[in-house]
Amino acid sequence: MYSPVNKDNQISFGPDGAPFSEQFQDIYFDSNSGCQQSSAVFIQGNDIFNRLVQGQTPLTIAETGFGSGLNFLLTLQVYQKAQQERGKKPLLPLTFISVEKYPLTKEQLKKSLAILPELAEYTRSLVEQYPEKCEQMWQGKFLDGQVTLQLYFDDAASAFSGLKSKKSGLIDAWYLDGFSPRKNPDMWHPPLFEQIARLSKEQASVATFTVAGLVRRQLAEIGFRLEKKATGGKKKQMLTGIFQQGKNSGKGYRLRPGISKPHQVGIIGGGIASACAAYALTRLGVKVNLYCRDSAVAQGASSNAIGALYPLLHQQADDISLFYQQAFNRARALYRQVSDEGHEFPHQWCGLLEVSYKESLQKRQQVFEQLKSWPKTLIHGVDAEKANQLAGLDVGFGGLFMPGAGWIAPGELVKTLFDAAQATNRLKIKTDINIDRISQNEDLSWQLHSGQNSFHEKVLIICGGAESIKLNISDQLPLSSVRGQVSSMPSNQNIGELNTVLCHKGYLTPQHNNQHCIGATFEKNSFDTDARAEDDAYNLNMLDTCLPGLSPWSAEDVAASKARLRCMTPDHLPVVGPMPDIEAHKTLYAHLSKDKNWRYNQAAPVIDNLYLMTGLGARGLCSAPLLADILAADICGTPYPVDTQMLFNLAPNRFVIRDLIKGKVKDKS
Ligand code: SAM
Repeated sequence: MYSPVNKDNQISFGPDGAPFSEQFQDIYFDSNSGCQQSSAVFIQGNDIFNRLVQGQTPLTIAETGFGSGLNFLLTLQVYQKAQQERGKKPLLPLTFISVEKYPLTKEQLKKSLAILPELAEYTRSLVEQYPEKCEQMWQGKFLDGQVTLQLYFDDAASAFSGLKSKKSGLIDAWYLDGFSPRKNPDMWHPPLFEQIARLSKEQASVATFTVAGLVRRQLAEIGFRLEKKATGGKKKQMLTGIFQQGKNSGKGYRLRPGISKPHQVGIIGGGIASACAAYALTRLGVKVNLYCRDSAVAQGASSNAIGALYPLLHQQADDISLFYQQAFNRARALYRQVSDEGHEFPHQWCGLLEVSYKESLQKRQQVFEQLKSWPKTLIHGVDAEKANQLAGLDVGFGGLFMPGAGWIAPGELVKTLFDAAQATNRLKIKTDINIDRISQNEDLSWQLHSGQNSFHEKVLIICGGAESIKLNISDQLPLSSVRGQVSSMPSNQNIGELNTVLCHKGYLTPQHNNQHCIGATFEKNSFDTDARAEDDAYNLNMLDTCLPGLSPWSAEDVAASKARLRCMTPDHLPVVGPMPDIEAHKTLYAHLSKDKNWRYNQAAPVIDNLYLMTGLGARGLCSAPLLADILAADICGTPYPVDTQMLFNLAPNRFVIRDLIKGKVKDKS
């Protein structure tokens, strides 16, 4: 069927003109859908378009197997599309490094690409510049010099070993193309993966057609977290991954343990954290047994009638605000997805106004406006007139408005998420089971004790908000309880007009079922959940002091009051990840107290098969979906949606590491 045209590098062309390697007995690209498939795997698999459009630093892509240059041409095409998307502001330059051990001649290259007319304009500039003789290295410039192609005519591992790299790495994205490992085992050998590890930047991405175990194992071994994805065409699956948790960072305490994806896990809890965790895990094929101490889910902090959903943003884009910004986007996306899937829960994306009701807040608003740390679509300043317009009533002050924020009925959301998880047939909810103690079995599985009863789980996740404070083992973390009481108030003609959430020292929500929520009190270290009249009075007084005359409510008007406990951490960020072995940390990383920059690659010691997702404070509606994705990545080995720094900022072992660095841990020797 194929007629060889060049016996030297053993290329033949099919009847449709597609190139075929006689040497490897494999195609260069799928002739029917070559562009679409290679684009799906390499361009979309590495998210090149978005990274170019949003790029803060120039992108460097590396490829194994230049072949006919199809992937390179597709990259030129996406670069041009990204430039159109970005408008007048020029894109940052792109460097494309490729290696080719068996180069095509200029003629073969031209003939191969002739069957892809959609790429003709890019092909022309490649063919024009492509060398007559392929020796060592050749460099070409494309798209007005914005894109540089460096092509090494050598074995992949050998060519990459000659590249200089900074400590922080060189490569942002890998296109691993090079015939299948079965047909070309010589390329997919350990020296190639050693080079990939040496050259990858933190968060570098990888994409490849092959899902072979040999490739997956070697990529995982060097620090890539991988995901198999479906793709069209002859090869039904593809592999993508992110370089995270590289083992030579010098900060071993940031490394999280890998576990083989369990068939089933147990979750303690019944609120928004558990609901998001159960939703994320069941979607990834993991069975979940949920242990809820109440007779129904969502009886704790998630039982309030209405909760505001908005990110915590400081003037500067610091670590905490960056986390909440990302978490907020994820929460909105998840809640929209669940509602698009047909699951109903009361909510409204009505925006939220942080009212600048006193001078210090007006100054803060000015600084926000000057610094411009955040996009206007996330938060922007408004004057009193605009604020009144947005709120639908006379607020009397300007403020900072978050157009994408809103309110949700948390209890119904939690039930909806559990319903959606149950629809997978992978979730069992066990109510009225108060787990009062846990113990580890010899095989490192867990026994969950509830009075006289005991349950067995191989992997256990503690999600139970304030319950985790007193549970043995998680009680070793600096978690604390904060009591908060929320008062429900009847709507009236004036306040019923409110159509955005108002935040002052407390908050006031638009009406839902003819009621508004005002809150909330903040009482540290209390475990008391009885509602108190004085707490309602505090909420009413706080509203009247900050926004006088907004509503004529008095204590007699209170329709319902509810006090619940929130689980807090000292740094106001939640906790997600494996439970650390704290004593082992103190020994292993003791030297950090003498040298905080001490480089030590030994991975963080953990208590096997025990995970936490807690400390969400009063912000669970915002943070739980992203935290659940991180937890799911911990448990299923998929890429983390956040970088290693943010991962550590959320890690349960951050407290002991910081104590060691600050010299707060006594030397036991
Ligand atoms: N990316 C190519 C394209 O767009 O046409 C298709 C690549 S083809 C599937 C695989 C390529 O890998 C071939 O050109 C082959 O010569 C090259 N290759 C095979 N082994 C190699 C090695 N050890 N080092 C570098 N390139 C290699």
